[in-house]
Order: sequence, then structure tokens, then C-alpha cells
Amino acid sequence: MVLPKSLLFHIAIPAIIFFSPDPLSIAGDDWQLHNPPAEISDAEEVELGKHVDEYIRHQFYLEDDPDFNQAVNSIVQRVVAASDRNTLPFTCVILQSLSINAFSAPGGYIYLTYGLLKFAQTEDEVAGIIGHEVAHVSLRHASRLYHEVMEINSRDEKELHSMTKVLLLYSHLEEFEQDADTKGILYAQKAGFNPKGLLDFLERHLNFMMHQRLFGMFDSAFTAAITARLNHLRECLSSLERSNN
Ligand SMILES: [Zn+2]
Repeated sequence: MVLPKSLLFHIAIPAIIFFSPDPLSIAGDDWQLHNPPAEISDAEEVELGKHVDEYIRHQFYLEDDPDFNQAVNSIVQRVVAASDRNTLPFTCVILQSLSINAFSAPGGYIYLTYGLLKFAQTEDEVAGIIGHEVAHVSLRHASRLYHEVMEINSRDEKELHSMTKVLLLYSHLEEFEQDADTKGILYAQKAGFNPKGLLDFLERHLNFMMHQRLFGMFDSAFTAAITARLNHLRECLSSLERSNN
């Protein structure tokens, strides 16, 4: 992505790349709803997202360059317009972090790191990442996960070994990732971007991590999960291409 000159000073900072296989862990009880209902309304979901957003804004400095934010937000608005929940008030902020990461919170909050935007080479790649995050929100993944965590935590400790809890959540995360990829590339295409952008980005990121030997810190299960995700994405793109013709 072309960066405004005012942001170039960031490039001088040595790249500290941190990529975590774990979901963003949001510790503490201050943002949790008390007695969350089984199904939450849009308004309640936005309320839950607001608490998460406050937490994130305490953890990171936000990139405040107006041109940069506008460029990213215009992609967000195009992708949101093509999504299934375009009535939600989506907001996207850029975090001043050199890590390559993106995530979303319930209610339409999307976060992209500065490092991710610097790593992206085309608008199609950025749209692919945004499509994936918008799809997480559309499919209510964060609020579903929230309920899952609350439900698992409320069970008797003896009934469920803590490792089983982790595996149970992790299996859902993989499923959520694949579903968000499937939907996300559709949104990106509908918004007028090349749906291959997400795959291009993820493949380049994987190569980058291998090159940096960052894989030493991951276990084989994580490597297998990434490979499965990329294969799933390739299959989705082939069937999308077939249906386009
Ligand atoms: Zn995801």
C-alpha cells in the first residue's frame, strides 16, 4: 500500500515482527457483561464491542494520520456495503504496532496494525484482510466465542480438563477462520476488489515468516492449521472462479 510521506519515519524503526497463534487475549473482568443472555441483540453486541474497544484503545496508540485513515476506511466502507450486516456502525482503527495483525470485536470494530498495512502490497490485499474481519463480525464470531468462553468457564473444573477447554476453543477458532475466509473473499469481490488479495497476502506472510525462521517458535499443529487454511482458501477461490465464468 502506498504510504503518505508523513508516515515514512516509521519505516526507520527496526521491524519487530510478532505473530501470535493465539487469539488476542483480553484479560480482566472489567469489560465482561454480567449474566450474558444466550442470544444478544445488535445493540447489546455493539455495547459489548464498546467495552472491548475501550480496552484496545488503552493498550495501543492509534495511528492518527487523516489521509492514511481515510484511505483504509474507504476500503472498509466498500467492503462493509457488500457484506451481510451493512446496517451495523462499522469502525476501523489503525494501531501503531509493527506486528502484522488484524482482528475484530463484536458490533463492527475492526483493528489493523500499521505493520500489516506496511506489509500489504496492494489494495486488493488490504481489502482481503478487511473482508475477513468484516466476515467475523457478520457471522457474529466474537460474540459466539464470548458465550463459548463464558459457558466453558461456568462448567465444573473436574468435568472438563483445562487442556480440553483449550482444544475445544481452538477447534472453533479454526472453523471460524475458514468461514471468515470464505465469506471475506466474497465480500471483497462484491466490493470490486480482486478476491485473490487475501491469499496473496497470507502466502507472502507465510514465506516471510519461514524466511525469518519465525516458525521455530511454533508447533507443528500450528503449521498444519496454516497449511489447511491456505488450502481451503485456494479451493474457495477456484470454485469462485468457476462460478464467475
Ligand atoms: Zn480471523
